[in-house]
Amino acid sequence: MYKQLLERKNVLVAGGAGFIGSHLCDELIKSANVICVDNFITGSEENIDLLLQNPNFKFIRHDLTLPLDLEKFSELEIFKMRFQGIQEIYNLACPTSPKHYKNLPIETLLTNAEATRNLLDLAVKYQAKFLHASSSAIYGAPTSERQTFAEDYWGYLDPVGPRSCYNEGKRFAESLVVNYGEHKGVSVRLARIFNTYGPRMKLNDGRMIPDFIASAITAKTLTIYGSAEERATYCYVSDMVDGLIKLQEQDSGVIFNLGSLEQETIKEIAQIVINLTGAKVAIETAESLPYLSTQGLPDITRAKEILGWFPLVPLEVGLKKTIDYFLAHKGALGLSKD
Ligand code: NAD
Repeated sequence: MYKQLLERKNVLVAGGAGFIGSHLCDELIKSANVICVDNFITGSEENIDLLLQNPNFKFIRHDLTLPLDLEKFSELEIFKMRFQGIQEIYNLACPTSPKHYKNLPIETLLTNAEATRNLLDLAVKYQAKFLHASSSAIYGAPTSERQTFAEDYWGYLDPVGPRSCYNEGKRFAESLVVNYGEHKGVSVRLARIFNTYGPRMKLNDGRMIPDFIASAITAKTLTIYGSAEERATYCYVSDMVDGLIKLQEQDSGVIFNLGSLEQETIKEIAQIVINLTGAKVAIETAESLPYLSTQGLPDITRAKEILGWFPLVPLEVGLKKTIDYFLAHKGALGLSKD
């Protein structure tokens, strides 16, 4: 019914003004028409500033918990929506940092439920391929030290704890996605994303790497909440975007872990940030915060075998690029040494 008529396919990115979503739009725009839908609840216009000047990019400000009729937007006529429809949907809409578990719990739950449903209904209407950004959070906390999660692990979670709006929201969304796949014929994929970092992460929203960088740049002590010896993995955002696109393009599987295999202790990561910034600052540890949780490590065998995907950017290289971004935006981000 909706065949690609234009040279470029039409792709919708929900949450495209966020951290990962904006990098995904940067990549997709090279070969597709991109419709970015976002309500800026945690994303920002600066993330898509350059894209707004590109004729193949259209932005719609919309809260996706409400239904979306794309054919009402005259600015999308250029993409021949009525005839070509949409070929692919990426759903990255969801408030995502630890602080939002406390500040935006209902929005987080409803975005996972209602926004995912509205987007799946668009996928039904346009027979579009659907990729949902899930999270390693659906596995919950590891039950043993250095636990590695494969896709067939069911998880260990507190359904009513301080992180439950995110963890349970993501689990509900996964179930909704696979059921639309089974019962409504949508071609679906679930990306279980592990910690990802890079330029355009927000400061002050409780994520560890921006916190470390902001402290180092402003000559303040780096604080580790919880154990400094806990091992963690961080995937650079360009690798994550590459994984998401490869996952959307394939038709041989549904659920895939995407994350880095490089492991460091939190203390080692703090030290790398200090070395790269040249800061003369100390590292301290403090009691863990209620909304933080120990993290398991990803088993990405399936992504390697089926998608031919694995992360390429070493942590030090990615951290350097991220630090350079924060330094370049120091003024705008309010990073001064006082
Ligand atoms: P982000 O908060 O930067 O981006 C989410 C975007 O969704 C924001 O631009 C926000 O404004 C938008 N959004 C939220 N609710 C919306 C709504 N109701 N309507 C329209 N737009 C809405 O987060 P991110 O780090 O870029 O994460 C993107 C996706 O990947 C999320 O689904 C997140 O849960 C998942 N994920 C991220 C990580 C990570 O380490 N960054 C890890 C696991 C999973």
